[in-house]
Amino acid sequence: MAHELLSPSSKPEPMIDPFGRAVTYLRVSVTDRCDFRCVYCMSEHMTFLPKKEVLSLEELERVCSAFIEKGVRKLRITGGEPLVRKNIMSLFRQLGSHIDTGALEELTVTTNGSQLAKYATELYDCGVRRINVSIDTLDHDKFKTVTRWGNLGRVLEGLQAAKEAGLQVKLNAVALKEVNHQELPQMIEWAHGQGYDFTVIETMPLGEIEGDRTDQYLPLSQVRDELSERWTLNDIPYKTGGPARYVEIKETGGRLGFITPMTHNFCESCNRVRLTCTGTLYMCLGQEDAKDLREPLRASEGNELLYQAIDEAIARKPKGHDFIIDRNTRQPSVGRHMSVTGG
Ligand code: SAM
Ligand code: SF4
Repeated sequence: MAHELLSPSSKPEPMIDPFGRAVTYLRVSVTDRCDFRCVYCMSEHMTFLPKKEVLSLEELERVCSAFIEKGVRKLRITGGEPLVRKNIMSLFRQLGSHIDTGALEELTVTTNGSQLAKYATELYDCGVRRINVSIDTLDHDKFKTVTRWGNLGRVLEGLQAAKEAGLQVKLNAVALKEVNHQELPQMIEWAHGQGYDFTVIETMPLGEIEGDRTDQYLPLSQVRDELSERWTLNDIPYKTGGPARYVEIKETGGRLGFITPMTHNFCESCNRVRLTCTGTLYMCLGQEDAKDLREPLRASEGNELLYQAIDEAIARKPKGHDFIIDRNTRQPSVGRHMSVTGG
């Protein structure tokens, strides 16, 4: 169902949370399913949601449009793996129409890259200009070990297709002690040589996994210190609307971002909320409180109940998260996996 589009002249005021932060960024997980099983993200035998629990593409479009009408200016489509959802391009096409009207500033996607060779050109046609691709190692065997089911060759083909389509690419790597600690400088050099930004992320305690997270956790303060011995890192004010803090590496001429939920709490500037594929809105990645939007969405054809539910949720957005990873804290801080809330 196509919904009324906003004209650029009627851009709404943003929603403001109880701590005075404007909420202008929505991340939407369009599926909890994935064609990979990354060791830090999922257990090997994940149970996925029954299809009937998941919002249809039309419903997802309706919720996203409601958020845009309430002042959201940036949408990120994520998952699970968003590009494995059937007909996902129809959602991108619908959402892209808000870019055309100027109501939406940016439509982006976070992907594991496995389907990019197929979809890169179409994503560009739908108004997507920047994409995040997660890649934790450039070693084919290690890639298989980390993702369990992934194929690095396919991801590299996807990256090439993205470049040819004109998409600006940012690579995201989770810093993992046993996996890519030693390889990070090489990966950064490669990424910058290809013209990609690179961001390192600290692992967060989300959801049960098989291993012990303390074995994987690598604080980025340490990574930064090590990289500083090798290169000149200059802080730059570059911002993409997300939580990364950027430096420019003098020697490579490229940008490097750090996402540090563990060593530096970035909540004070949080501008975002997250919608799961079942229509649950999480006001903070690191807290359990959530608001169901599926019921108000399905209760009527009009959006009044939905708007009301969104307002109630934003009024409850908490100040921040309190993640801990240490040997005494074995339980994940938050029970749900990143693939549920959306990265
Ligand atoms: N499948 C897509 C992908 O991998 O890019 C999108 C969803 S994935 C959940 C989004 C991001 O979250 C990925 O960059 C992934 O590495 C990251 N991620 C997953 N679990 C994480 C965890 N426990 N801590 C930190 N990052 C995590
Ligand atoms: Fe899938 Fe992304 Fe999670 Fe890896 S990080 S299992 S690619 S959702």
